Amino acid sequence: MDITITHTNNSKVHDVDFENLPFGRIFSDHIFVADYYDGEWQDARIEPFHKFQLHPATMALHYGQAIFEGMKASKSFDGKPMLFRPEDHAHRFNASAARLCMPDIPVKLFMTGLNKLISLDQAWIPPQEGSALYIRPTMIATDEFIGVKPSQHYKFFILTCPVGPYYPKPVKLVAETKYVRAVLGGTGEAKAAGNYAGAMLPSKLAQDSGFDQVLWLDAKEFKYIQECGTMNVFFVINGKVVTPPLYGTILNGITRRSALQILSEADYDVEEYPITIDELVAAYKKGTLQEAFGAGTAAVVSHISDIAYKDVMMTLPPVSQRKVGSFIKSTIDGLRSGRVKDTYGWVVPVKEIVEAAVV
Ligand SMILES: *Cc1c(COP(=O)(O)O)cnc(C)c1O
Repeated sequence: MDITITHTNNSKVHDVDFENLPFGRIFSDHIFVADYYDGEWQDARIEPFHKFQLHPATMALHYGQAIFEGMKASKSFDGKPMLFRPEDHAHRFNASAARLCMPDIPVKLFMTGLNKLISLDQAWIPPQEGSALYIRPTMIATDEFIGVKPSQHYKFFILTCPVGPYYPKPVKLVAETKYVRAVLGGTGEAKAAGNYAGAMLPSKLAQDSGFDQVLWLDAKEFKYIQECGTMNVFFVINGKVVTPPLYGTILNGITRRSALQILSEADYDVEEYPITIDELVAAYKKGTLQEAFGAGTAAVVSHISDIAYKDVMMTLPPVSQRKVGSFIKSTIDGLRSGRVKDTYGWVVPVKEIVEAAVV
């Protein structure tokens, strides 16, 4: 499918303070859009960034048929735009679409639109290691209809935001013993918009009690650790790195997958197994809980400083002693900047070079 390109004649790239980028509030010059109707994706196009007009009965707004992805483009040391495991994101997007009864987006269309968009807006990729152009592919149901059924029309779009190096403060978590994020058979494995809506109240209550986020437990027994916020979780217990398995209720994180491979190849002792919150408390009491961190595209690694569970407050060693989490962050950031040699084939140059926007 041809992708028509309309260049902006009003680039905003020179108005942006690339040294001070708030996460997710600044949008680059162009957007990729395609519409699904008559059973196929049509009218693929790159346009100047603009607002959409939506009918008030647009189905996504009422029934939540909406999915997204989160990925990053960065610049290699010689200034070339690079993507991190983009096809993995395309495949996961389609897995989310399947669960929400939405149409597949051909991987080729996803990749071509993505590559052309990033090529066109490459001036928006901040150069410093750790900063990136955050990419948000999204699909929403657009039938103008009140009634619950899968939509016949969809809109796919990719928007991008430049983001600075993100060194979040270590986060304080509370293991959630009342609310759940996902149940087996539900939509927890999909990057579905509604999953985040359901998590907002418990997260707000956690914040009101002085925590940053909740650590989700399984929905049946409140026993097995799941994940936190928008990150998969890892623990280092007595020198061994552990993370929960893909139960079908947690997101199959690409950072998680990358971390597991990096750690195994660096000869760390790693295991995916159903770790319980009681086990974590026992390790803490024995003094063997050495590290805890979240892994996800936005922060890469976010160290966890404390975890509360019922009346136990587990305070972990200072970040200066977090060898494993820091190694993962430095390796993934280094792969993206070219400082670490990519023996995995994860960092791929942007293809489909289009004439850069005149800025
Ligand atoms: C996106 C996300 C993650 C992390 O996935 P990555 O592919 O590593 O970015 C983890 N958990 C949830 C709930 C997420 O939405």
